[in-house]
Amino acid sequence: NIEKSALGSRLSSTSGIEILMDDLGKAMAEGGENVKMLGGGNPAHIPAVDALWRQRMQEILENGDQFDRMVGNYDPPGGNDKFLEALAAMLGREYGWDISADNIAVTAGGQTAFFFLFNMLAGDMPDGTRKRILLPVVPEYIGYANQGANGDIFEARHPKITHPAPHRFKYGIDFDNLNLDPQRHAAVCLSRPTNPTGNVVTDEEIAHLSALCKEAGIPLIIDGAYGTPFPNIMFNEANPVWDDHIILTLSLSKIGLPGTRTAFVIANQKIASSVRSETAIIGLSNGNVGQAIMRPLIETGDVLKLSNDVIRPHYKKQSDFALACADEFFADDLPYHIHVSEGALFLWFWFEGLPISSQELYQRLKKRDVLVVPGEPFFFGLPVEADDPWRHRHECIRVSFAMPEATVREGLRIIAEEVAAAYAPV
Ligand code: PLP
Repeated sequence: NIEKSALGSRLSSTSGIEILMDDLGKAMAEGGENVKMLGGGNPAHIPAVDALWRQRMQEILENGDQFDRMVGNYDPPGGNDKFLEALAAMLGREYGWDISADNIAVTAGGQTAFFFLFNMLAGDMPDGTRKRILLPVVPEYIGYANQGANGDIFEARHPKITHPAPHRFKYGIDFDNLNLDPQRHAAVCLSRPTNPTGNVVTDEEIAHLSALCKEAGIPLIIDGAYGTPFPNIMFNEANPVWDDHIILTLSLSKIGLPGTRTAFVIANQKIASSVRSETAIIGLSNGNVGQAIMRPLIETGDVLKLSNDVIRPHYKKQSDFALACADEFFADDLPYHIHVSEGALFLWFWFEGLPISSQELYQRLKKRDVLVVPGEPFFFGLPVEADDPWRHRHECIRVSFAMPEATVREGLRIIAEEVAAAYAPV
């Protein structure tokens, strides 16, 4: 029975999402081939993209010197200098951003970047106050929820809900109730597109938020794991933004290289340099493989072509297919609402007035070999339920459409059956 420090206890505690992921993994192992796995966040294996990575590895191997350097050398903590220069040059060329290699820090995936950023900015401050990360909209990416090294650091706001079409809805930022306060908030953070909802916060909302953050003198963190410029899993036009007070994180995961654990923090030089220092202390340096595979695509700008011509159309097609299946299987008189699918890999369903919790729905679906993610864990940073009885947080599920079409279709058929049964009077 080892005694743990407060920090140790926090970082080694089992989070809700870990239990859930474990449960999903076990159900997959038990159910084998029959399971419709619509619960994961894994990107699709797109044959042309898989082939490209294999070709790049071949090229690296054939140029023995490149291979030897890739596996035999440590990179500096911030990343490979040549890679960083190429990325800064591409972003400057394409978007006119005034950045250099000194504005970028490589991290071991976006997940690590968020741990570094949140704990650098929020938590217990030297003056004895405690600062939080403001989430302007929840539901938001579950991976943030347990990252506060000093305990809970999130404060979230309810979204504004609009219905742009029958059986569709969209979350927006409720600026009237945002109450951004630099004494209380260390930074504002959102994922764009959002995991789990597929929301792309509009250019206007981003401009408004950015202006508020700039005025308050605090950073705006935009998590571009699915976003622009790459992998650009976005189905509407929306522009990438960067400024001295904006921290943009990009990742190689959703373009198809999650196994390389590579992400980029693009920020002012002070923040980028602080992230580099965190890497040095915690990880010494990062893996080189993702940067080595990607470098020529960044140098030529082909990463943008890959994103726009291959990755985005693939997911757009999957999204359209999943939406069509859902509208076919769900009865029109059922109060089901799907978040407008503007990006990422998921459909987010809201079953208004659902007589059972989404947790219970998850269990019922699991019995029928369909795995989804119940919505509850994505609503973090809110007051406890006794003070904020918002039923919506028990009425949503996340369904991935990254799987093969037959799996998505059959899964949605069964979801529609179970939801109809849940609403049916007993
Ligand atoms: N941000 C969002 C919104 C995500 O969905 C994910 C992964 O699913 C991440 C960040 C972290 O991804 P990675 O650590 O693989 O870059």
